[in-house]
Amino acid sequence: MLSKKCERCEKPAIVFLPYGSHSFCAEHFVYFFEKRVKKNIRVNSLLKHAEHIAVAYSGGKDSTATLFMLNQIFSKSNKLSAIIIDEGIPGYRDKAVKIAVKNCESWNIPFNLVSLEEELGFRMIDVMKKLKSSDETLGSSCSYCGVLRRQLLNKKALEIKADKLATGHNLDDECQSIAMNFFDNKLDQFVRLGSEVRNDSINFVPRIKPLYNTPESEIKQYVKIKNIPHFSKKACPLRHEAKRSFYRKMIDSAEEEFPGTKYSILRFFQQSKPLLEKAFKQKKLRACEKCGFPSSQKICGSCRQISKLQSL
Ligand code: SF4
Ligand SMILES: [Zn+2]
Ligand SMILES: [Zn+2]
Repeated sequence: MLSKKCERCEKPAIVFLPYGSHSFCAEHFVYFFEKRVKKNIRVNSLLKHAEHIAVAYSGGKDSTATLFMLNQIFSKSNKLSAIIIDEGIPGYRDKAVKIAVKNCESWNIPFNLVSLEEELGFRMIDVMKKLKSSDETLGSSCSYCGVLRRQLLNKKALEIKADKLATGHNLDDECQSIAMNFFDNKLDQFVRLGSEVRNDSINFVPRIKPLYNTPESEIKQYVKIKNIPHFSKKACPLRHEAKRSFYRKMIDSAEEEFPGTKYSILRFFQQSKPLLEKAFKQKKLRACEKCGFPSSQKICGSCRQISKLQSL
């Protein structure tokens, strides 16, 4: 039975977390939430003193919570900046970008706004129109958008000499990626998951995920309780991630039926990762012949996609 009172004080509880039978008032939920993020950063040594952290900032709740918390914890000891990518999705990304810029200004965080159109000469919305009218099966919007965004983030992070690139990936994202690799039998891909993604290749800024063990539902509650402005209005009109949506629903219903499932998935991964790292040494990447960024092939995935899109 869930208690109606906070487990730490006499106040009425407003947040209930079935996986640990937790019940918290607003103040103690915030404490619990922030403590877990700080512990993740400390235990996994995600950041060092004085490192320059760039946050991949979309304006959505996850990256907003990431930027907000890093600013709270590290603004005195580390340099913090934001990288905002505008993929060119009118009615969606432009609104999120506005909020992202406003937050950076009011929190005094330097930001870099990178436009896909200025960098590559096309917007995602135009690309999708072209793809729809093309006969070829060229893949989904998200597969293009994700690869191009990752490349632009890495490029900008290198340009501003960031030591780490922090993303807003949460526990739900991580569980979905683990499940997708598991069901697709992509054992070698497991080594690319976790709270930190490193590669010794040149031109690669290590990525860290301060919220990787924080459930998405709690991030929603955190930004609401703390009253942090963020973009939450609607889903991306170009969204097309059939497989990920399938695993999202599957894992959410397992969590509902068996609270704690998401943490079990994460623990399974954490225990397997060291063994898999031994079995599957991460490939040292080489520089892409076109753009110079890390790639497992002569020409990187991003450059191959750009050529495909430019030829439509
Ligand atoms: S949902 Fe897909 S298309 Fe939309 S911004 Fe995200 S990755 Fe891009
Ligand atoms: Zn309390
Ligand atoms: Zn390239």
